[in-house]
Amino acid sequence: MPRIGHGYDVHALDEGLPLVLGGVRIPHRKGCVAHSDGDVPVHALCDALLGAVALGDIGVHFPDSDPRYRGIDSLELLRHVAGLLGREGYSVCNVDLTIAAEQPRIGPYVDLMRERIASALGVGVGEVSVKATTTERLGFVGREEGIAAWAVALVERQTPVAEKI
Ligand code: MG
Repeated sequence: MPRIGHGYDVHALDEGLPLVLGGVRIPHRKGCVAHSDGDVPVHALCDALLGAVALGDIGVHFPDSDPRYRGIDSLELLRHVAGLLGREGYSVCNVDLTIAAEQPRIGPYVDLMRERIASALGVGVGEVSVKATTTERLGFVGREEGIAAWAVALVERQTPVAEKI
């Protein structure tokens, strides 16, 4: 039986910080304020995957009060989440991410993000969709105060070998 999960994340932007989205370092004058590397879409995806199997959220598994996660590559968190799903007997069918950012333009980096996320999840790049949009200069995203991301993930229980016979 397939299960679906949804995730949402926002980080504030500030001058002079590194910007990492979808596991890709993007040259920009601003980056995300965060305890980890502030990878907004990967955080949303972790929550979508955890949500699909009702395993809580990213804050439960990787509390920002824990110094082990300071500046951590969020793809490592994603690998850990994929491992948790695997231990629960689930595999990832496909994931779909939307990033809302006014600047910089995300489009040129989307395919590299898909590759890195797919690699962390252990799925094909065809199972990973990354989309980008602006908010037409409206709201906190439009004012370049922050970046938001949404993710949806479909997972299914791996069929035990005995059931395949
Ligand atoms: Mg976050």
